[in-house]
Amino acid sequence: MDFLNLSDRNNHFNFSGGPGALPESVLNATQAAINNVPEVGLSLLGISHRSEWLRNVLDETEDHLRNLLSIPKNYHVLFLQGGSSLQFSMIPMNFLRGSRKIAEYIVSGYWSIKSVPEARKEGQVQVVWDGRDSGYKRLPKAEELVVSSDAAYLHYVSNETVEGLQFSYLPGISNVPLICDMSSDFLSQSIPIERYALIYAHAQKNLGPAGVTVVLIRDDLVDTIPSDLHTMLDYRTHIRGKSIYNTPPVFALYVVMLVTRWLRKDIGGLAAMAEINQAKADTLYKVLDESGGFYQGHAVQENRSLMNVAFRLTDPNLEPLFLKTAVENGFYGLDGHRSIGGLRASLYNAVTQSGVEALAAFMLDFQQRYG
Ligand SMILES: *Cc1c(COP(=O)(O)O)cnc(C)c1O
Repeated sequence: MDFLNLSDRNNHFNFSGGPGALPESVLNATQAAINNVPEVGLSLLGISHRSEWLRNVLDETEDHLRNLLSIPKNYHVLFLQGGSSLQFSMIPMNFLRGSRKIAEYIVSGYWSIKSVPEARKEGQVQVVWDGRDSGYKRLPKAEELVVSSDAAYLHYVSNETVEGLQFSYLPGISNVPLICDMSSDFLSQSIPIERYALIYAHAQKNLGPAGVTVVLIRDDLVDTIPSDLHTMLDYRTHIRGKSIYNTPPVFALYVVMLVTRWLRKDIGGLAAMAEINQAKADTLYKVLDESGGFYQGHAVQENRSLMNVAFRLTDPNLEPLFLKTAVENGFYGLDGHRSIGGLRASLYNAVTQSGVEALAAFMLDFQQRYG
């Protein structure tokens, strides 16, 4: 088949694990706004964060998020900095420090592994399940999780971005606050929001550039925050400051607003988005499954992620050639995370079905040549 030549390489073929693909219309609107935001008459990069305009941008984004996820009134919507990695620390600082309770963690891959040591600095931690023995190729079944009804909270990662593992059920029990790192599948599908006490997701996987982390936090959790926290690390500061306690990342916030607007107006909401995401993942996993072992998925079938397809070639010596040929054909970002190597195609919201079909055709062609 005819592949694109490099000069045609475009954002439809961005399979990067993050920062990743963004919708074409959002990129165009961002480009225009860098020169001039029409409502203001100034460059997006030079507008004060204390302007009424930015307040409106944040309010509009919150409105889109509340609409898309059906977020009830008793949740705060915050836009913070420091990435998801800072949330690994802020969560135990705010909800474990000084408590006699134990925080429970599910360790299912690269990112949940990183969250645990931060919590241990603040209090007692119990790892309720660890996927180490399976090489982080599967997630726990609900009945394998032994959780306490008296835990400070249960923390898990809904989608392990590196290994390509995605939960299809909610872990834990309803009276223990459920806290979720949803960084890489936030806004990819609808979720039962009222079951969560806190959800966090930085922008650069599925909703914008790096710099913004969305935190949804249920009101009653806020009452137990200790009073001796540093101002910036206390969720109450950002609730009171309406996410503008200090200078926020105006540029990144604007792009997140455009993406949430696109999801609502152009895609038509999360049910429609989920259908598109399912079709994309089906297209790619079919190539893996029908390759006779030439391509091997990392995750067991029932825990496969719709967002991150992590795989290998049975002959690892072919992987550099695969990546080189992919780049020559305009496909970007297919190398696996540096921690596990191999290959990975990330199918975030902005990746299109036609982009995935082009990748599937490329992979079939590569297999025909070298399989
Ligand atoms: C990428 C990622 C992180 C790290 O986020 P930073 O914003 O770089 O700190 C944390 N959790 C998950 C699930 C991720 O995919």
